[in-house]
Amino acid sequence: MAANDHVIGIDLGTTNSVVATVLDGEVHVMPDEAGARLQASMVAFLEDGSVVVGNGARQEAVVDPINTIYSAKRLIGRHYTSTEVKTALQQFPFKVVKGKNQVPLIEVRGERYGLPEISGMTLRRMKDIAERYLGQPVGQAVVTVPANFNDTQRQMTKLAGHLAGLDVLRVINEPTAAALAYGYGRDIDARIAVYDFGGGTFDITILQVRGNVFEVVSTAGDTFLGGDDFDNRLARYMLLGFKQQHGFGLEHDPLAFSRLKQVAEKLKCELSVKDRAIVNVRELALNADGKPCDLRFQVDRQSVDERCQDIVQRSFLVCDEALRGARMKAEDVDGVVLVGGTTRMPLVRQMVAEYFRREPLTDLNPDEVVAIGAAIQGASLVSDPFEKGAPAQPLLLDVTPMSLGVQTVSGYFDVLIPRNASIPCEQTRVFTTTVDDQTTVRLQIYQGESKVAADNTKLGEIELYGLRAAPRGEVEIEVTFEIDADGMVVVTARDRETGIEQATRINVSAGYSPDEVEAMIERGI
Ligand code: AMP
Repeated sequence: MAANDHVIGIDLGTTNSVVATVLDGEVHVMPDEAGARLQASMVAFLEDGSVVVGNGARQEAVVDPINTIYSAKRLIGRHYTSTEVKTALQQFPFKVVKGKNQVPLIEVRGERYGLPEISGMTLRRMKDIAERYLGQPVGQAVVTVPANFNDTQRQMTKLAGHLAGLDVLRVINEPTAAALAYGYGRDIDARIAVYDFGGGTFDITILQVRGNVFEVVSTAGDTFLGGDDFDNRLARYMLLGFKQQHGFGLEHDPLAFSRLKQVAEKLKCELSVKDRAIVNVRELALNADGKPCDLRFQVDRQSVDERCQDIVQRSFLVCDEALRGARMKAEDVDGVVLVGGTTRMPLVRQMVAEYFRREPLTDLNPDEVVAIGAAIQGASLVSDPFEKGAPAQPLLLDVTPMSLGVQTVSGYFDVLIPRNASIPCEQTRVFTTTVDDQTTVRLQIYQGESKVAADNTKLGEIELYGLRAAPRGEVEIEVTFEIDADGMVVVTARDRETGIEQATRINVSAGYSPDEVEAMIERGI
C-alpha cells in the first residue's frame, strides 16, 4: 500500500485519544513508544519553550496545572459566552480568554492559542505514533466526533486535523464508528444500541445495521451525566467518613474536596476490579487546633454500588427517550455495544444487562472501539479494507442531532432541517427583500431546539449582496441549506430571476477568519 493510501482512524477524546489503522486486513490499535494504546488528550507547555503532548503531559498537569491544557474538546467550536466555556473558566486551572468573534482562546506562557491548535497538537501526536508504528508517513485520517457536535465544532475539528498535517477525509460520529467496529463485514441484520458512558457525558444511539448499511435510527444524550458524577458521590461519602473520624466537616473546604475527588476517581477504578479498597489521604485538613488530620477510608463495592445506582438509572431515562424516538422497546435491541471508561464499572454492566435484558457486547475494548471503527471507515475510503471477497464500502446513514434554521424578523427560529433528519440532506427556501431597493439580505443561521432563535447556537450569518434594486418582495433568492456526510452545513444561494449563483458571505460564529487560519498554519504546531 502506498504511503499516501494509508488512512488512520483517530478517536479524539476529551480525556484520551486512540489511533488505529487497517493493516493486511486486520485492525491495529497503534501503541506509542512506551507501549501505551491510550494517549492523554493533554498538552503541556514547558518553561524551556518545548511542548509535551499525550501521556507525558499528564505528569505535568500535577506539577504545573496552569501550563497544562486538557479537555480542549469541551471548548472547541464553542462561543466564549457558552455555559461550557463559563464552567471551564471556573474549573480549569489554565487561562481561557476571549478572542475575536467570540472565540475562546487558551493563554499559556504569554501566547494565545486557538482550540483547534491545541486539539491539532493531540492529532499530530497520534499521527506521529502511527508513523512510527507503520514506518512510513501518514497523510490521511478519519476523525470521530460526538454525535451531538454542531457544525462549528465539526469544522473546528477538521481544522485541527489540517493544522496537524492531516487531510481529514471524513468526520464521523462516534457511535456510528462503534457500530461499524462491531458490525462491519459480518453481514448482520440487527438493531444495535451504542451505550456510551464517558467522563462527563452520556449518549445512546440506536442503529439499524443491514449488511453494509449503518443507519442511525435515533440518538439521545445527557451532557451533564458521566463518570464525574460517581467521583463526586464517592468524594461526598468520603467526607462523611472524615466527619465521623474527626468530628468536623469539610463542606467549606473546596481544596480538600477537589483532592478527595481525585482520590475518589482512583478508588472507583480500583473497585471495578476489586471488591473492596482502602485509601489513606494524608493531611487532608487542619483541625481547630491547627493539627493536620488524615483520612483513612475503607470501602466495599457493594456499598458504593448502592449509593450510585440512581446515577446509572439516569442513563436509562435517556435510553427511554432514544427508544421512543426509534419506536422500539428495550428488548427489541439485538446487541448493546459499550463505549467509554465508565462502562468498565460492573454496576453499569449489570444494570445495562437488566435494562436491555441481554448481556452487553464486551469483546472489543470500550476505549478502543471508536478508533477501530474510524480506521475501518478510513481504509474503506481508499481501498477494500479486507481485500478479496470483502464487503464493499460501508454506507453510513447518520442523522443530524439538532434542528437547523434561520431567525425570522420577529426573532423566532424557523426550522429548515429538523433534528433526526437523515444526512446528507438539503432544503431550499425562497427569501425576498422586505424593503424597497434593498440590495442585501442577511440570514442568521442557528442550530438547536428552542423556538426562540437566540436561545440556540448561532452558527453564522450569511449575507446575500449585490441584489437588484427593486420594489420590496420582487427579488427572490433561493437559498439551499445542505448538511453533508460530515454533518457540516453548506449554504448556496441562487437568484431566481437570473438563475445566477448569488454572492454570499458566510461569517462563522465562534470561528476564525481566513487570515487567522493562515496565521495558525504559519505558526505551526
Ligand atoms: P472516557 O471519556 O471514555 O475516556 O471515560 C472517562 C471516564 O471513565 C472517567 O470518569 C474515568 O474515571 C472512567 N473510568 C476509566 N476507567 C475506569 C474503570 N476501570 N472503572 C470505572 N471508571 C473508569
